[in-house]
Amino acid sequence: MEDKTTGIEKLGEFGLIQHLTKDFQYSNPTTLKGIGDDAAVIDKSENEALLVSTDTLIEGIHFSLMYTPLKHLGYKAVAVNVSDICAMNGKATQITVSLAVSSKFPVEALEELYEGIKAACDTYQVDLIGGDTTSSISGLVLTITVIGHAQKDEITYRNGAKEYDLLVVTGDLGGAYMGLQVLEREKEVFKSNPSIQPDLDGHDYIIQRQLKPEARADVNKILKDLEVQPTAMIDISDGLASEIIHLCTQSKVGCHIYDEKIPIDAKTSLTALDFNLDPSTCALNGGEDYELLFTINQSDFDKINTNPNFTIIGHITHEKDGIYYIDKQGSALELKAQGWRHF
Ligand code: ADP
Ligand code: MG
Repeated sequence: MEDKTTGIEKLGEFGLIQHLTKDFQYSNPTTLKGIGDDAAVIDKSENEALLVSTDTLIEGIHFSLMYTPLKHLGYKAVAVNVSDICAMNGKATQITVSLAVSSKFPVEALEELYEGIKAACDTYQVDLIGGDTTSSISGLVLTITVIGHAQKDEITYRNGAKEYDLLVVTGDLGGAYMGLQVLEREKEVFKSNPSIQPDLDGHDYIIQRQLKPEARADVNKILKDLEVQPTAMIDISDGLASEIIHLCTQSKVGCHIYDEKIPIDAKTSLTALDFNLDPSTCALNGGEDYELLFTINQSDFDKINTNPNFTIIGHITHEKDGIYYIDKQGSALELKAQGWRHF
């Protein structure tokens, strides 16, 4: 018999979300922004809005318990949610934690997980205000919902970038991906010979980038002190290329980004070369750095250019000029997102 069903891979993650939600309309005037940004925006008062976002981490998909200490997992789960609030230029204030666990986890393991959650709550000054606990037949599923606050006139959406704006990133990129490569390599070595100790020497920085990423909760204040209001912003969870494409598509603009400008730590580059990978490709397509990508008006160039937290990597062009990556030789290549493919 002919199969009339449609494979999810045909639509992809974003196609699927769009397809499933296309008939939903917002009937509450308090819904200022629904699906499509790093967080939803809900009207609160004349000047303030609430921000809401949720993210799920699944054992075997987002992490392997062979090399992810539960304490780190708890920390990371909070950090990646806080990151989505930072991407709206807001401040995270509360979280809820929903947990599905199988009986293979003793209470002590879950205590460790919650130690990590607690440490992140302390770091980001967020309150754990609820959640849900159920059983799971296959491994650990952790869903965190984060609530944040922002001044309405400071909220940055993905769709505000204008032609001639400058593209800026925080921190450095590709490290989390290279950390994952090292951990995966050692996992394979361990599987084939459990008596061999993992060789993680010299990889502290990139492993920390993978296992204990930090949300850029500091950026909101830095920008405020510099008196810079970004025109658009998104967090870099799936790789720079994919996030640039989201930001440009939603803003209906094009861009030029320059390979030589992409900030990559020397430790990331060296490890990439060790693995026969191009460091720029790791920054463009490796995920989980949780840095911020934003655009600013050209008049803010001096304020941002001299600040060590930021790197200007390109500029915004007209939509019809397309989204381009200028390689080390100066050739313009159309930017394609490899990023993380869930389906
Ligand atoms: P991010 O990369 O910032 O975590 P996602 O890529 O997960 O964002 O999601 C993009 C947008 O789609 C967000 O606004 C998110 O809330 C929404 N979304 C994701 N999955 C669903 C779903 N199953 N139903 C409704 N909205 C969804
Ligand atoms: Mg995001």
